Amino acid sequence: MEAFKIPTGSMAPTLLGVHKNVKCPNCNWKFKSNHNNTYVKCSNCFYKIHISDNGNRGGSRILVNKFSYDFGKPRRWDVAVFKYPFVDVACMSCGFSSSQSMMCEKCTNSPKIENFLKSKVNEYFKRSFGINQYHKVVCKSCKTVGAIFCEQCGSTNVHVVRKNYIKRLIGLPEEKLQVVNGDIYIDDKIARKPEKVQDSLWVPVFDSNYTAKQEIIENWEVQDGNWDISKEQLHLIKPDGIEQKSYITFKRNITDNSAYNNEITDVVSADVMLAFNVIATGNSGGISILLEENEKVYEVFVRSRGEKKESYVKISGSIVTSNADAFIESGRVCRVEFSNADNEIILKLNDSVVFSHTYDTDLSSLNGYTKSSKLKFGGINTDAIFKNILISRDVYYSETGEWGIYNPVEIGEKQYFFLGDNSRNSNDSRYWKFVPESNMVGRAFMVFWPLRTIKIIK
Ligand SMILES: [Zn+2]
Ligand SMILES: [Zn+2]
Ligand SMILES: [Zn+2]
Repeated sequence: MEAFKIPTGSMAPTLLGVHKNVKCPNCNWKFKSNHNNTYVKCSNCFYKIHISDNGNRGGSRILVNKFSYDFGKPRRWDVAVFKYPFVDVACMSCGFSSSQSMMCEKCTNSPKIENFLKSKVNEYFKRSFGINQYHKVVCKSCKTVGAIFCEQCGSTNVHVVRKNYIKRLIGLPEEKLQVVNGDIYIDDKIARKPEKVQDSLWVPVFDSNYTAKQEIIENWEVQDGNWDISKEQLHLIKPDGIEQKSYITFKRNITDNSAYNNEITDVVSADVMLAFNVIATGNSGGISILLEENEKVYEVFVRSRGEKKESYVKISGSIVTSNADAFIESGRVCRVEFSNADNEIILKLNDSVVFSHTYDTDLSSLNGYTKSSKLKFGGINTDAIFKNILISRDVYYSETGEWGIYNPVEIGEKQYFFLGDNSRNSNDSRYWKFVPESNMVGRAFMVFWPLRTIKIIK
C-alpha cells in the first residue's frame, strides 16, 4: 500500500487536484472548481460567481494497492496509478524544457529504463575528472542504448523528472478500442460500466432543492395549462377527459459541461439520469418519463395501482419490455429514478430495479451521434406532485486527441489504455497511446484526505 497526492483535475470530480470550494450565492449549491479559475458559472442556476478570493485547497490524497497476486490483475474501470511514459526534461545549458517519450523508437512501445547506476558513476567521474553527467537509457526489450538530451541544443546536461499519473483504466491488452459519442466501444461493442462505477460517475446538472433567488435560466416548459409550477414542486393537475397526457419539459440542453472546468460546452448528451419523488393520486393512468434523442423516443410508463395496462418501456412507439408488478401506490411518496447510459435504460422505484433494457445504436454513420436530447415527464389520467428533482449526466469521453478517436486503436500486448474522468481536461491515452505493463503501479482504492471527502474509490 502506498499514498499518493493528486496534482491535477483530470480525474475530477472523482479525485480533485488543487481546487477551490464554491458555494453559489444565488442558489446555495456547493461544488468544486479548478484552482486557476477566477470565475465560474454555477451549473445548477447559471449564476456567474467570482472566485478569485476563494482559497486554494490541496488535491485529494489517496491510498493505492500495488497490482499483485493479492489484489489481482488490473481490471477495466479501475482507477489506477502508473508511471507516465514521458519524462519532463529541463536543459541546464540553454533552459529549454520539453516532454520526452520513454518508449523505444526501435521496437515500438517498449519502455526505456534509465540507468541510475551509470548516472552515479558519472557523478563520481564528474567530480574527479570534470566529465558531465548524463542520463543513460536502455530499452528493456531490444537493449538499444541511448541518452536523454536537450531537444534544442543537444546538451546531455539535463534535469529529468519522472511522474506518476492516475487515470481510469479503459482498455486492456490486445483489445480494439474506440471512443464514440461519449461512450467506449471495445471490439465494436459498447462497454457498459458496472453499477457501482456508473453510480460514481454521474455529474449533477440540476437539483430542484437548490432554488435560484434570481432566475437566470428557465428550467421548465409546459405545453398546456395543467401545470402549477412553484419553487418547491411541480404539480400536474389531473387533466379533464379520458387518456389525457400532459408533460413538462426540462428546457435546458444537457451537455458535457462541468463546473470544475468552467468551460461552456455544447456537446449534447442523452446519457442522463432523472430522479424525483412523486405523489400520484390517480386510480388509473400513471406517470411517464420521455427522453428524446434525435428522432428516437425512449419512454417509460409506470401505472397507478388501479390501472389495467402494464408498466412498460417503449422505444419510438414500440414496447420493448413490460412489467405487471411495477406500479405506484396512490397517495404515497415514491422515489423514481430513470437512467439512460451506455445504451441501457434502467428504472428504479424506491431503489428497486423494475426495468433494465439494453439496446444498440447504429453508429456506422454520423446520424447515430446525439444531436439533440430532451427530458420530459408527466402523467396520464392522474394528479401528480413532483419534488426533489435531480438531473445528472454520465461521464462523457470527448473525441479529442488522436488515438481511438477517428478510428479504433488496437492495443498492443502488455499495453493499457487510460482515460481521465474529466475528459475535456485530461492528458491521457488519447494523446500519447499506451501504458506498458511494467509502468503499472497499483489500484487506487481510497481517498483519505481531505478528511471530509474520505471515500472508497469506485
Ligand atoms: Zn447557483
Ligand atoms: Zn539545451
Ligand atoms: Zn527497443
